[in-house]
Amino acid sequence: MATVVESPREYAQLFIAGEWVAPHSGRTIASIDPSSEEIWASVAEADEVDVDRAVVAARDALRGPWARLTPSARGALIHRLGALIARDARKLAELESRDNGKPLRDTLGEMQRAADWLTFFAGAADKIYGETIPYKPDAHAFTRREPVGVVGAILPWNSPMSLYSWKLGPALATGCTVVLKPAELTPVSAMELGALITEAGFPAGVVNIVPGYGHTAGAALAAHPKVNKITFTGEHRTAQEIMRSAAVNLKRISFECGGKSPHIIFEDADLERAATVATHGAFRSTGQSCSIGSRLFVQRSIYDRTIDVLVQRAARIRVGMPLDAATHIGPHTSAEQLAKTNRYIEYGKDAGFRLLLGGKRPAGFERGYFVEPTIFADVDNGSRLAQEEIFGPVLAVIPFDTEAEAVAMANDTQYGLVAGLWTRDVGRAHRVAAQLESGLVSVNTYRPVHWMLPYGGYKMSGIGRENGFDAVNEYLETKTVVIDYAEAPPPDPFAD
Ligand code: NAD
Repeated sequence: MATVVESPREYAQLFIAGEWVAPHSGRTIASIDPSSEEIWASVAEADEVDVDRAVVAARDALRGPWARLTPSARGALIHRLGALIARDARKLAELESRDNGKPLRDTLGEMQRAADWLTFFAGAADKIYGETIPYKPDAHAFTRREPVGVVGAILPWNSPMSLYSWKLGPALATGCTVVLKPAELTPVSAMELGALITEAGFPAGVVNIVPGYGHTAGAALAAHPKVNKITFTGEHRTAQEIMRSAAVNLKRISFECGGKSPHIIFEDADLERAATVATHGAFRSTGQSCSIGSRLFVQRSIYDRTIDVLVQRAARIRVGMPLDAATHIGPHTSAEQLAKTNRYIEYGKDAGFRLLLGGKRPAGFERGYFVEPTIFADVDNGSRLAQEEIFGPVLAVIPFDTEAEAVAMANDTQYGLVAGLWTRDVGRAHRVAAQLESGLVSVNTYRPVHWMLPYGGYKMSGIGRENGFDAVNEYLETKTVVIDYAEAPPPDPFAD
């Protein structure tokens, strides 16, 4: 199919208070197409002044017409936004493929999923209510679930629109207003989102979009005293900085950070199935996903056979141009990310781990941030290759002998986002799932991320949960109201 978007693209304004406004600094961010290494779009750059304007707009909207809408009407608007994203899926998918290098087959799927996410949370909007508490006779005690207020949403570059829907869905369903800061590497689809928010009919200021750099726009949002909550997806070191800034007014926080996810194949597993899923789990999105199964633990009795199947499967992965329908994985999103992956590949070679596949730039790609799917076997679980998040297509395979050893090695990491295991033994499935220190454990599948399933990290992988009703609760305050209706006067403790 021919491409539908033209380039270069220019977005000279920010989306604040329902209007397109020039950025205070007059500056723009240049966005690079990672498959050609050329600038293909420019986007207005927000600074601290713009962030402040956006926060004021969000505060005004919080108390304005947005607050007067019924929850069902809020839900209808969220639903409409999802439908508009689905309508424009092809165009939005192309824009994201150009911006971050992900293949069209993935970005198309992500647009549909963004719509599905919004549909789920649209349905939640009128199912949020408190409870009555019979705490004593002659009193009516109840809780109100109130929106937490103005939400600053700070996003990464790996799945822009999809992650916008993870934040906007529950924030809007609960009646919050949002200032959204997309990642500086991939700001384009957020600008299209602004137009869709207007078209959906949201009141002005409910969602404001301020692309900008982390150390300026992001930091200003995190520190702003009138922002009530920060929802952040990105690296845990950034989360630590945000946490320090957010302390200024004790902002509520939810963080989705990185992972070094263990994927365990026991000897009684369906090996073919496990290897197919483990290959996809390790290499999809060029490894640029928080949930990549980057540490594969294989029981020693099936180790050599599993490695053979893995290498066969991974060798079939087609690295290619993002807009080519045949491409399985595209380039890295940035030169920095490619350099980081290459550093880990060199480290793995120097450390003497067995390089089974890849390890270099694929043939035929002189330009672009491309790298081959890479597999190292016999990796030491204590090494940097097995402990640090690479965010690239580099799989570390590690043998183990016993169940206890597999669990101990899987948990021996600072992260705890996703874990997977393959076994036909139902007792082992429950035992191991209970012991893994991870927010999501999958058995005989990998990483079932879905709007209904709470998602988030243990340890350095995050705080709070996205998705499901757990996500809704992250955007609510509980207010307790007690109305005393006793006819008899209360005793006077100061009477004598
Ligand atoms: P990053 O932390 O560098 O940047 C994320 C966002 O934070 C960007 O918008 C950036 O501008 C902003 N930022 C940077 N410094 C800031 C500061 N001082 N104050 C406020 N904002 C600041 O992360 P990234 O490189 O864009 O994304 C990759 C990371 O995201 C990986 O660690 C990955 O695992 C994680 N991630 C996690 C999930 C999840 O759901 N758990 C999903 C996707 C990505």
